[in-house]
Amino acid sequence: MKPTLQEIQKLAKDKHNETKKYFDKLKKKPPKNLDYAMQELHEAEFRRTDCLECANCCKTTGPLFTSADIERIAKHLRLKPQQFIEQYLSIDEDNDYVLQSVPCTFLDHDNKCFIYDVRPKACREFPHTDRKKFQQISNLTLKNVAICPAAYNIVEEMKKKLPL
Ligand code: SF4
Ligand code: SF4
Repeated sequence: MKPTLQEIQKLAKDKHNETKKYFDKLKKKPPKNLDYAMQELHEAEFRRTDCLECANCCKTTGPLFTSADIERIAKHLRLKPQQFIEQYLSIDEDNDYVLQSVPCTFLDHDNKCFIYDVRPKACREFPHTDRKKFQQISNLTLKNVAICPAAYNIVEEMKKKLPL
């Protein structure tokens, strides 16, 4: 059974200080095999994760939409990019295109994504735990472990496999 959003938020909150300290050390001295180790941890976790049982990311945080995302998704929906922007997106404080509201408009009631094949790059890459130079996104990961059970497990496993 996957933890609920409330449960994962509590687990991440209880571990917040420990995780933050770990990430501070990671930034100062990342292990040489970090990229390889993260790839392994990420793949192992997602082999046993069914995102359709969760969809916390789609329910709580929206992705950023790049120009390429907008063109691709608009074409798929047979809209002009500007029509797609007006209908679905707004601009945030960093001047990025984001969803007008969450849960995501494209999330179906059974946790499937209506635009899965053409979804934004940020959705495809979430929770970014297989990213190269993972130490550079530790602030983002601190937020993501409070949403994503897979990211939480990967970071907990990481602490065990790569003690600092
Ligand atoms: S576009 Fe699809 S994958 Fe991305 S947040 Fe929306 S429902 Fe989820
Ligand atoms: S990526 Fe994480 S938050 Fe999103 S559906 Fe999968 S397990 Fe849930």
